[in-house]
Amino acid sequence: MSAIVAIVGRPNVGKSTLFNRLIQRREAIVDAVSGVTRDRHYGKSEWNGRIFSVIDTGGYVLGSEDIFEKEIDKQVELAIDESDVIIFVVDVETGITGMDADVAQLLRKVKKPVLLAVNKVDANNRIDDAYEFFNLGLGQYYNISGITGSGTGDLLDAVVAALPPQVEDDNDAELPRFAVVGRPNAGKSSLINALIGEERYIVTDVAGTTRDSIDTKYNQFGFEFNLVDTAGIRRKAKVREDLEFYSVMRSVRAIEQSDVCLLVLDATRGFDGQDQNIFWLAQRNNKGIVILVNKWDLYEKDTNSAKEYTQKIKEVIAPFVDVPIVFVSVKNKQRIFKAIETAVQVYQNRSKRVPTHQFNEVMLPLIENYPPPANKGKYIKIKFCTQIPSPYPQFVFFCNLPQYVKDPYKRFLENKIRENFDFNGVPISIFIRKK
Ligand code: GDP
Ligand code: GDP
Repeated sequence: MSAIVAIVGRPNVGKSTLFNRLIQRREAIVDAVSGVTRDRHYGKSEWNGRIFSVIDTGGYVLGSEDIFEKEIDKQVELAIDESDVIIFVVDVETGITGMDADVAQLLRKVKKPVLLAVNKVDANNRIDDAYEFFNLGLGQYYNISGITGSGTGDLLDAVVAALPPQVEDDNDAELPRFAVVGRPNAGKSSLINALIGEERYIVTDVAGTTRDSIDTKYNQFGFEFNLVDTAGIRRKAKVREDLEFYSVMRSVRAIEQSDVCLLVLDATRGFDGQDQNIFWLAQRNNKGIVILVNKWDLYEKDTNSAKEYTQKIKEVIAPFVDVPIVFVSVKNKQRIFKAIETAVQVYQNRSKRVPTHQFNEVMLPLIENYPPPANKGKYIKIKFCTQIPSPYPQFVFFCNLPQYVKDPYKRFLENKIRENFDFNGVPISIFIRKK
């Protein structure tokens, strides 16, 4: 499980520039593997061997600066709630503004580590200008330039030093961990209440591996599983407004700690941008996904409705369409069993290990029938493939000229894997390596 670092600050100080710099190296690797569109405000960073998530909080606030101004307090509060380390970015060109002072005031009260980054210190003559930021009362600061990268190494050293110690995820490792995620009002708390049923179904309350999260272990419908961060959802969902930023921020930690995400949506509102962001968040974290189209009781239906609805969702989540979609009414307790059963199946798919001999027996003839296209007269041969032992499905294909195997061919391989072995609901990674 990785820790979360939030970047806060007013607009135009350079948050997204810094964000891009922090995630750059790792994203390049991830993109090469998955070919998936990346979220511009959430990503993974790696420094000194420690991997952590970075969120550019500003990126989720749309609209003009004055809207932002109203939101900034709440944004910072949420960042404080949901992250492990906060990077507060200010701008040496403008010096301290009123908004900076407001944010600093909030941050001074926080128990979590706050690192003050004075940005746009591109030239030595700016170093003197930076002194005024001592007046923010946050102690030591880091002079950085998001654009050139100077100073960001020291900042990252400090970030990594401030992260909570890495905890082994070993409590009930063999039990599926489900996260219920989605926009406010989709029906998450209702679903959790339905799952919990009567309190006696709760087996134990296990304090989570981080301060803010609580896992609850259930034994329901004959399945044993942990629900991640249910306390958080039930406690806080009502407090926050329907802003993308909040649902994403709230979802990140739950998603990271889960094996399978139950993405709940409100059928009457459709599968919109916020749902999509949460979906990609789960996909990018290689988590299993089940989409629950909730409030199906309210949807005006005819015989084709479920089919058409499924089709619409799949258009949006392409190319990763091999995802189960269950139509539920939490209110009427309709298909809740099916939802959990599906989540357990996805969990099993995610833990599946295809024996190497079987994998080769199935895949090599398919590859032989449809080999990677030759490049400049050079034939490309894949002679051996295997699943890598890892917590989620990753496959490696060994090849004489791996650099010439392009994304469309990888998608072909992925489709064939999905056709022949059930990985429904589970993202797959494919690597082509030199044999
Ligand atoms: P955000 O609104 O806080 O996310 O800010 P952006 O990252 O979008 O940056 C705002 C502006 O500041 C852009 O024009 C950036 O090119 C510029 N900027 C960001 N970092 C630096 C830097 O280190 N030095 C200079 N000179 N400009 C920067
Ligand atoms: P959360 O914010 O995602 O936790 O959503 P809630 O569980 O609080 O539900 C939001 C509202 O939707 C509440 O008024 C629920 O009673 C209602 N609701 C939840 N599930 C259903 C459903 O299946 N059908 C209908 N008609 N209403 C539902």
